[in-house]
Amino acid sequence: MRIAFLALAVAAAAISPAFAAAHPSGDDSTALIDACRAPESATRTVPGIAVADIPAAAGDLPGLLIRDATNQAEARLYYEPAFEQMARAHAPCWGAMLRDLAQVVPETRLGIRWASIVLTSDRDYVPPRDGTDARWTALVDGDEAHLEQFLFLVMPHEETHSVQTARRDGLPRWFEEGHAEWAALQVTALVRPEVAAAQRARHAAAATDADAHLGAWGSMRVSPEAIRRQLSPEDQQRFDKDPDFDPPGPFHFGPGDIVSDESNLETRYAAALALFDALEAAHGTSAVREWIAAVLADPEADPVALARTMLGEDLTPLLA
Ligand SMILES: [Zn+2]
Repeated sequence: MRIAFLALAVAAAAISPAFAAAHPSGDDSTALIDACRAPESATRTVPGIAVADIPAAAGDLPGLLIRDATNQAEARLYYEPAFEQMARAHAPCWGAMLRDLAQVVPETRLGIRWASIVLTSDRDYVPPRDGTDARWTALVDGDEAHLEQFLFLVMPHEETHSVQTARRDGLPRWFEEGHAEWAALQVTALVRPEVAAAQRARHAAAATDADAHLGAWGSMRVSPEAIRRQLSPEDQQRFDKDPDFDPPGPFHFGPGDIVSDESNLETRYAAALALFDALEAAHGTSAVREWIAAVLADPEADPVALARTMLGEDLTPLLA
């Protein structure tokens, strides 16, 4: 799989020169980096980002409403009272990260509402179910590294998913995850370069483990356990030891035996990111963003077909 990706990048580079990464730059990035450099030591302001209080409703936590005047987007950061200062210190940074994420995703719609974050020490926190909000729990338990990972790595990834979900359904899993990781790491690299580098190193290690079979990710298949329980004890042993063992049927399956193919996840995340990286290396960031925008804009659009027409790339060997 890794060789195939390298081949893709090299072949594509031969016919189309690589462009310099076109990351949002200048004032926006400077404000973002400043706001996120030391969120605990000082509350920094970011031009165009306003933070207002959300008084606690009955049975709910207080929060902060973060509004971005440049794209009218809104985000909410709820907090247990003990973490009020932490919330206030992180809010401008979080707003700036979301502004940057909107550019890299790209999310061009104005006035979107991002998924919310809750700062809590309660592992079992359950948000009020008012049906309008998705809240992600940032566990504040003194483990600063955990909180850093969550805010600066996990949340940009999950917020990319929230854009995908708002725009359309029916996206293949490899596209959802590759896009989310690719977009998120661009933001992470600006505000926490060491966190982004560590994540890329993890992906690089996982990429070599096995074939990713990206195209089958999330597809429906028969659970291996549903087959295993119908085998003789001898065949069960062989089934457990030999991945190539194809036990003879017939088998009977019920509805609970059909599961989504979620195997080999680490390799698949890595391979999905590598696919987006390879396209970016070959065609430049702007072209990849245009491809993504076209995929998100049309509920019927097939990313593979659009990669062929817009980028001249045949992705099918990479999804096999
Ligand atoms: Zn994901």
